Amino acid sequence: MLSEKSKINEVNYSFKCPSCDKGMIKILKTTYDVPDGDKMLLIKFECNICNFSNNDVIPLTTNNTPGIMTLRVSNENDLKSKIYRSPVGKLEIPELELFVVPGPRADFYYTNVEGILFRFENAVSIYRKNLEKDDDELEDIDKILHDLHKAMKGEFKFTLIITDTGGGSYIIPKDESKYSFQKFEQKELN
Ligand SMILES: [Zn+2]
Repeated sequence: MLSEKSKINEVNYSFKCPSCDKGMIKILKTTYDVPDGDKMLLIKFECNICNFSNNDVIPLTTNNTPGIMTLRVSNENDLKSKIYRSPVGKLEIPELELFVVPGPRADFYYTNVEGILFRFENAVSIYRKNLEKDDDELEDIDKILHDLHKAMKGEFKFTLIITDTGGGSYIIPKDESKYSFQKFEQKELN
């Protein structure tokens, strides 16, 4: 569990709450040991008066272990799992026909599963708008959108896979029992 592996090592107050403008934002920094031996810094911002809160994740060490990370997503809680894809990481959700492949201008990004679905929904909706009304693809696109909307509510089970040949990508699962990491053998990289 997160609580066993992480330690809160700093709490401080620094700025005024952007939401209520009265409270002070408390910053909690927690280091978290990723199952494969690396460290992440989790930063949580919390207002001491209203319920405003936000959080962010920063890798403290570089994960140099190339491999395949797999996360099973089957409920709303799993959607909050943190995702960090390095520029060489390939991200896919086969059940939703979603693929993010590495490329020369592929950017690093941090988000959670929900954030990935949201970006994808946006892209698919734009794509759909540009199709002709009698396009054969419409039926497929509508099926994807339908499943995607269910997925965004945690009502559609899917698998999120990151294949990283260079290391550097992370998944921080909400439920560790749904996460697995398969290390590449050296011969697979050549
Ligand atoms: Zn506040």
